[in-house]
Amino acid sequence: MVEVKKPVPEIDDESRPFFEAAKEGRLSVQKCSSCDTFRFPPRLRCPSCLSTDTQWTDVSGRGSVFTFGIWHQVFHPAFADEAPYNVAVVELEEGPLMVTSIVDCPNDSLRIGMPVQVVYTEPVDGVVLAKFKPA
Ligand code: ZN
Repeated sequence: MVEVKKPVPEIDDESRPFFEAAKEGRLSVQKCSSCDTFRFPPRLRCPSCLSTDTQWTDVSGRGSVFTFGIWHQVFHPAFADEAPYNVAVVELEEGPLMVTSIVDCPNDSLRIGMPVQVVYTEPVDGVVLAKFKPA
């Protein structure tokens, strides 16, 4: 039987600091150096003031479930054993929204607004992803 690997994000120059921090167990997002707005996903310009001055800043890793969905259909064969699984958007304490999934929590226990804490998984060697579990 052929093993099907899970797809992982393509890491580019813009997102590399996020993934390097995750490997070290840190959740890091961009923070505008002009107006202090946190932003995620990584992008060139601040959505508030359009400045390109930014610094990567570690955040708390705490947040709450902003919304979520339960995927019953298998869209990729590597996820066949996990369906139904959740895809969630977590609102970080610092403000940015992050698409992720909630682990260590039955799907029927998920609630909008529930507090969560970041955890890290390594679905393939060398790529560490930020997921969240109930806090
Ligand atoms: Zn700004």
